[in-house]
Amino acid sequence: MKREILLTPGPVELHPRVRLVLSSPQIHHRTEPAREAFLAVREGLKKAFGTEGEVLLFTTSGTGGMEALAAGLFAPGEKVLVPVSGKFSERWAEIGEALGLSVERIELPWGEVLDPEAIAARVSPDTRGLFLTHSETSTGVLNPVAEIAKAAREKNPEILVIVDAVTSLFLSPFALDAMGFDAAVSGSQKGLMLPPGLAFVALGNRALSTLKPRGYYLNLARELESQRAGEGAYTPAIQLVLAAREVLSVLLPELDAHLEKKARWNRALYAIGERLGLVPVPAKGGAPASEAFRSPATAAFYLPEGVSYKALSGAFLARGYRVAGGQGPLKGRVFRVSLMGHFTEEEAQRVLADVEAILEETLLTPGGRPRASRRSG
Ligand SMILES: *Cc1c(COP(=O)(O)O)cnc(C)c1O
Repeated sequence: MKREILLTPGPVELHPRVRLVLSSPQIHHRTEPAREAFLAVREGLKKAFGTEGEVLLFTTSGTGGMEALAAGLFAPGEKVLVPVSGKFSERWAEIGEALGLSVERIELPWGEVLDPEAIAARVSPDTRGLFLTHSETSTGVLNPVAEIAKAAREKNPEILVIVDAVTSLFLSPFALDAMGFDAAVSGSQKGLMLPPGLAFVALGNRALSTLKPRGYYLNLARELESQRAGEGAYTPAIQLVLAAREVLSVLLPELDAHLEKKARWNRALYAIGERLGLVPVPAKGGAPASEAFRSPATAAFYLPEGVSYKALSGAFLARGYRVAGGQGPLKGRVFRVSLMGHFTEEEAQRVLADVEAILEETLLTPGGRPRASRRSG
């Protein structure tokens, strides 16, 4: 198969250290070197999540980590609040419903930034949990989750705030304890630049004290017991754990610079699109949202009139790049380009120049004028 460069918001271009580790011989997971790597990754991720609590590793994709949290922290029938404004926030609601929680959805237009006061207004004394999505990868929105957690807790101090940080960890500043969250989840194939296969579940101290042993494979309480000693309860994707240790060892010491670089590249993507007349998907009160509410994980634009996603993604593929389309109600209406994966500065600049050239070729009318962009339809 022809090599494609992934400009998709997961999976992403691998960190070069990953390739090295994955070409080394298989190790056994019940050995000292495996336990050392396991514990090092849990420690490194505690720093990345910003918690004094615990981080557990699961051999599953990010969704498995979401399910583990919903199952381990809430009992069937308990009331949880879920603002739904994209594919991944909708997933929180679906997981809660599948587990028999009493899910109260707040249905919002996809792409709209969450409003802390409006969410808090829906919190009642019997609301046990609030499920939030920090970086809503399906729309490119970065939600003000710390403000939402604060406003919700003012209404109900006992509420547990659970955050999907799948595409905010290693991409936007994140601090579980300091931002007032109780638990969060991420996955290996996003900001950490690993292949898919690991989910990371972070638990603050309040969440740890409410954990119940529920479920079988995705059982937080059972894993906590086992992982404190450096072993998963079952066979973990140990080679991915070794790779995670490598990437964390280079990423953590330079995390601030890394975040700054990712934000700068994503700003450049938005600048290219906006210069060509494209309308960004992230919106606040119906108008394009400011940079503070655009996730550095991906740029997302509405497709202009007369340009299909098939034509646009085909133009990218012809140049060796894979981009992503829209999901749910945004299917066929938006496209997403992401520099979440690993690129050197030189590679990123080449990608940005190529993105600009491809968009110009595809979007400009023969007269060289931008086509009218549309945001509804
Ligand atoms: C990728 C992603 C997930 C998890 O998806 P998986 O395919 O299960 O790894 C969850 N939330 C967000 C915001 C994501 O971008």
